[in-house]
Amino acid sequence: MTRTPLIAGNWKMNKTHLEAQALVEDLNDALTDHDFDAVDVAVLPPFVDIRTVQTVLDAAKSSIGLGAQDISQHESGAYTGEVSAAMLKALNVTFAAIGHSERRQYHGEDEAITNAKVKAALGAGITPILCVGEPLEVRQAGTHVQHTLDQVRGGLEGLSGDQVADTVIAYEPVWAIGTGEVATPEDAQEVCGAIRGLLSDLHGDDVASRVRVLYGGSVKSSNVADIMAKDDIDGALVGGASLKADEFAALAGNA
Ligand code: PGA
Repeated sequence: MTRTPLIAGNWKMNKTHLEAQALVEDLNDALTDHDFDAVDVAVLPPFVDIRTVQTVLDAAKSSIGLGAQDISQHESGAYTGEVSAAMLKALNVTFAAIGHSERRQYHGEDEAITNAKVKAALGAGITPILCVGEPLEVRQAGTHVQHTLDQVRGGLEGLSGDQVADTVIAYEPVWAIGTGEVATPEDAQEVCGAIRGLLSDLHGDDVASRVRVLYGGSVKSSNVADIMAKDDIDGALVGGASLKADEFAALAGNA
């Protein structure tokens, strides 16, 4: 099974809607010669920028995919401040990051919440990007694989094999996020390979071979190729390097 790699840019809490418009226009221009059949590219702007970015992408008939950084586990109603899967779907959003380490750290998101959000996304036809990965002290204790696999198991609990196959998993060691300290390709492969092994144990080889497993944490145009050369790494979730059009386009080109 050949998996189409995915390069997804997580803008985090950066860019007003006007800045987002400029960035996505520049990115679309910078990707004019990009082979989207070979490597998928998506951007995950803040909620308030999504409508603006969607308008730019539609007008340009762009192949850049659109994602959200979070999604509500609830369908609708009295959940002040939340944004539902149906609302995102209506804006042509096709990806949603779920359980990013910053959501786990600052908003207390645990496996029960990530699991409910994964189900909400899949229910609306949105591809979840389930983010997992260990903090520094867990890595130092040597239990990073177990820690990460527990997050995967919890986040995907109760899903069918086909639903798992429609999910993207991003392994992002917390100590590598925004620090400039990228995991070595070997370290990233160790955990990404273990994730695919778990998926195989749970749902069989066919499902496991269809899931895209990304690495995230200080990925740049200069290091993406070495990381993606590893067997079980099918792309990258990119923070800082996704905020400059030329750098992100170069990164996608090197993927
Ligand atoms: P970074 O962030 O590329 O800035 O390390 C990655 C992420 O948090 O998704």
